[in-house]
Parts: sequence; C-alpha cells; structure tokens
Amino acid sequence: MLKKFLYIMWACVFVVILFLGIKNGSFLSFIEAMENRTFDIRQNLIANSGHRKHNDNIVIIAIDDASYEYILDNYGEWPLRRDMYAKMVDFLEKQNPKSIAFDLMFVKSMKSNDFADKELIKIFQKYDNVYTAMNLDDQPEDLRIPPSLPEKLSVKIQDIKDTTEILEYSNCRNILPEIIDATSNIGMINVSRSDDGVLREMPLFLKYQGKYYPQLALLVAQNSLEKPIDYLALSNNGNSDSVIINWYGGAGTFENIPMYKLLKAAVGKENFDYDFKDKIIYFGATAASLFDIKTVPSDRVYPGVEVQATYVNNLLDNSFIVKCPLWLNILAGILLAVISALCVFTISSMLLALGASVTVYVIYVVFSYLLMYSANVWLSIVSPLAFALLAFIGAVIIKYLIKSRDFDTQYKLATTDGLTELYNHRYFQEQMQNQVSHCNRYGVPMSLIIIDIDFFKKFNDSFGHQSGDAVLRQVAFVLKKNVRSADIVCRYGGEEMSIILPNTKYEEAVKIAEKLCNMVAAKTYKLSNGRESNVTISLGVASFGDDGTTPAQIIENADKRLYNAKNNGRNRVN
Ligand code: GH3
Ligand code: MG
Ligand code: MG
Repeated sequence: MLKKFLYIMWACVFVVILFLGIKNGSFLSFIEAMENRTFDIRQNLIANSGHRKHNDNIVIIAIDDASYEYILDNYGEWPLRRDMYAKMVDFLEKQNPKSIAFDLMFVKSMKSNDFADKELIKIFQKYDNVYTAMNLDDQPEDLRIPPSLPEKLSVKIQDIKDTTEILEYSNCRNILPEIIDATSNIGMINVSRSDDGVLREMPLFLKYQGKYYPQLALLVAQNSLEKPIDYLALSNNGNSDSVIINWYGGAGTFENIPMYKLLKAAVGKENFDYDFKDKIIYFGATAASLFDIKTVPSDRVYPGVEVQATYVNNLLDNSFIVKCPLWLNILAGILLAVISALCVFTISSMLLALGASVTVYVIYVVFSYLLMYSANVWLSIVSPLAFALLAFIGAVIIKYLIKSRDFDTQYKLATTDGLTELYNHRYFQEQMQNQVSHCNRYGVPMSLIIIDIDFFKKFNDSFGHQSGDAVLRQVAFVLKKNVRSADIVCRYGGEEMSIILPNTKYEEAVKIAEKLCNMVAAKTYKLSNGRESNVTISLGVASFGDDGTTPAQIIENADKRLYNAKNNGRNRVN
C-alpha cells in the first residue's frame, strides 16, 4: 500500500517537472545556459592548460591599432586603398604561401579610386590561392535587392536530411562583382552566437536562394587538405549545419603580424624578414576601434579573424567538439541517479551518503572534463547532475517515509496486546499518568472503568481455553466498538480490561459502564468448536477527584467497586 503510494508520488514529481520543463520554456533554456557555462569552463581550462597545440603555419596579418593609425597617418583615409592590398599579396606570393585569405569584405566599388579596385581584381585573376569573404544577412529588400550569386560559389551537399537545421538568409552583402567574376575562392564569414552572445558554434554552410554556400574557412582548409571535406560527417552526421569550435587558447594564440610592417615591406620602405613559405595567411582586423571582437569560451575579447583561424585549424586537425548523443547523456543521468539512490539506501548516515554522492558527482565532472580534454567530446554535466540530485532528494524522502513506517509498526507492537488487540498494560499505566497530569493541570474530569469477566475460570473449564480466548477477543471488540474514539480501551491483565475515559464525570462513566454491561450480556459468542455461549461482565467505576488524584488511588477504588459488583451478584456496575 505504502509502496504503491510512493511510486505514485514519485511519478507525480516527474510529471510535474516534465510539465514545468515543457510548458515553461525558460526552465529548459536555463538548463541549456548552465550547460553552456560548464562547456566554457572546460574549454577555458583546456585552452589555458597548453594541451592543445595550434598550427604554427597559420599566421594573421593583423589590422591592429598601430596599423590603423599608420594607415591614417600615411594614406590619410580608412579603409586602406585596395591597390595596397594587391601590393601586399604580390609581396607574399613571392614566398609561396599556402593560401592568403581576407577576413575582410571588398564591398562594392570605392568609386573614387577605380585604379585601386582594378589592381585588387588583378590579384584574384593571377593567384588561385587567394581567398576573400562575403556574408549573408536578412536586410530588407528596400535597402538592397538580393543579388543572385553564380553557381560556382555554391556547394552541392548530398543526402541532406529534411531534419537538418540550416541557417537560411534572404539577402547578401554585395562585393565587387568583378571579384566574383575573377575567382571562385569566395566563402561566407557568418557566425552564429548562443543566446548569451558567446560564440561557440560556426556554420559550415548557409542556404540562400535555394543553394548552399560554404564558409570561407572550409575553402581555405580544403586547399591544405588532401581529401575533400565531408560537410555532413562534420556536423554530427548531418543533424545541423554547424560545428562546435574547439579553442586553442585566448586572444593572440596565433601569430599576429601587424599589417603596417608588411605594408612597409610591400611598398619597399623597409625590409621585413619573415618566412611566409607554406603559411596560411589570414588578413583581418584586431583593432578595438574596428570592432570585430567576439566573446568565445576561451576568452572574453577575441578578434573575429582569430575565430576564422581557429576554425581553419579545427578543420586541419579534425578536432571539432562532438556532442554526446542524447541517449548517452540520459544514460549518464540514470547511472548517477541510481548511484545517488544506492548511497542513500545503503549508507545509514545521511551526511556520509551526501558525501559519497557528491564525491561521485565530482568524479563525473572530472571525467567529463577529461573526455573533452582527450577526445573532444562534450558530455553533458548539468542535466545528468540535476537528475541525480533529484534522485538523491527522492531517495531521502522515501527512506524517511519507510523509517517512519517502521517506527509506526514498532510502536504498535510495543503498545498493543496480541490477543485482543487492545492497548497493553504498559500503555494503560502510561496513559493513566498522562490523563491524571492533564486533569491536575486543567481541572477537567476523567474516569476509569475496570472490567472482569464473570466466572471465567469455570468457562475455561467447561469450554476449553481456546473458546475462552475467542470470547476474550469478542468482548474486547464489543467494548472498543461501543466507546468514543478518545476513550482508551486496554487489557489490564488476564481476563480483566480497563477503559480510560478522558473528560468524563463519574455519573456519565457509570452510564457508559451500564450500557457496556448490557451489550456484553446481550451478545451471543461464537466458540472455537462451533458452539455458542453467553458471558457477563462486572464493572467498577472510579473518577479523578473524589476517588483519588493519583493513578494508583483511582485504580484501587475502581478495583474495590469491581469487587463490590462481584459480591452483589455480578453482571453489574458499581
Ligand atoms: P469471577 O466471576 O469471580 O471473576 O470468577 P472468575 O472465574 O472469572 O475468577 P477470576 O477472575 O479470578 O479468574 C480468572 C480466570 O480467567 C483464570 C483464567 O483461567 C482465566 N483467564 C485469564 N486470562 C486468560 C486468557 O488469556 N485466556 C483464557 N482462555 N482464560 C484466561
Ligand atoms: Mg479476574
Ligand atoms: Mg473473572
């Protein structure tokens, strides 16, 4: 019975939690936000432990604060003239770099300097390892008409599932059309941020006008990889269009070369001694004033161009973070929940059980950290731990309920008479003491009836002890059924019983005793061998006050009256 109740209660708790979780979306997003925080902490620890080595061949030509000032001082305008970028590319290409990528967008024509645009376009025609960026957005059509992009820029993604979440955009930032004509090395630089603004994932490809467009990093990485990149395999087997970036360190992980140094060398102002052979070179802004700064798990202030470098590096060493499948996270939760419940049920001290559970939780957290550290796997921490904690609390409640049920049984055994199921002698004495104290304190009345079955010795002799027991049980039942619930019916000893009547004056008690006397006499009792018989009882009544103010005095007087009832002919009250 109690077990059933516990199961139902348990089920109710789960239903309520599930209901809250589904109805109130904020609960689930809260859990997700917490999980993301644990991811950030793990990533931050791993990135700062020096365990993850970034690729030394990736270097950044940083448009840093010094370069920005240098350009303003020397060229009098921002952005830098496009023919200067062409000059730098020409300079770099002499050293045979692997690729040169611009995390910059050459938006439309500068108009004022047609020559500069032409110089830039030329380098895209001349070198097939130079890459540039574009991005998709959702700007309304009244700002710009969505341009159509040539087929060559898109990728075919085979076997894409209907359920794959894909970022789709309605508009595209125009870049110089002549660059689009000159090269296919144009990729997107869209980013996707979590609700809290932290950049954890990057899209692999984006949908625009019914076609898929790859991210710039994929094109750049592909140039260094032997095998073609399998987009769907990267994205957790095609379940989303994104990958979770694995960070190598804080800002400045990749070598940053201030652009002004390269610029000076490219225009022949100064020598610049650096070996760019086989390097993957990324041009991008790191200057605070140019505001391309993101918050990532490993650093609060992280330049956008380093995000791109990290992305390329993840592709090169195939080290994206892979989320554990849902069923594994659920299994982890169940396992932790079972361990928590076992701790509660097998360890008698609650404090020790809590200590043991917390130790298991800590081991789990350390394990999840090591899993990310060594295998790039993201095992959920928050929901399995929340589940385990819930199980712990549930187990504590159940244990407490079982304990209190055990206590109830023990208490009943200690206070009840086995044959008649009336209260036993010890309980009678205890209650007499309590009731008398109560009367003394509050001046309320209280009475006691002592009952003895008439000629019971003879009854036993004639019908046997088993029949005697049966009658004893039935008389006890009659007594219990015919008094108020506040009255305490006890087996005093042998075939003698007693009833404590709280808040009852002598006269009322006598009336009750007479009623009981008549009821017992009127009833026919079934004996053990199928026969029937009648018995009578004699009753002695005494009350608090006139008959005494201690249990002993009251019992003694009730006993005396019982003796009188016997002497006066039995089957009566005195
Ligand atoms: P009286 O009318 O004077 O009370 O006569 P009586 O024979 O009942 O005398 P008394 O009360 O002294 O006798 C008690 C008898 O009750 C003794 C014993 O045989 C019987 N008895 C006491 N306890 C039990 C019991 O648990 N079961 C049975 N079957 N008999 C009991
Ligand atoms: Mg007796
Ligand atoms: Mg008797």
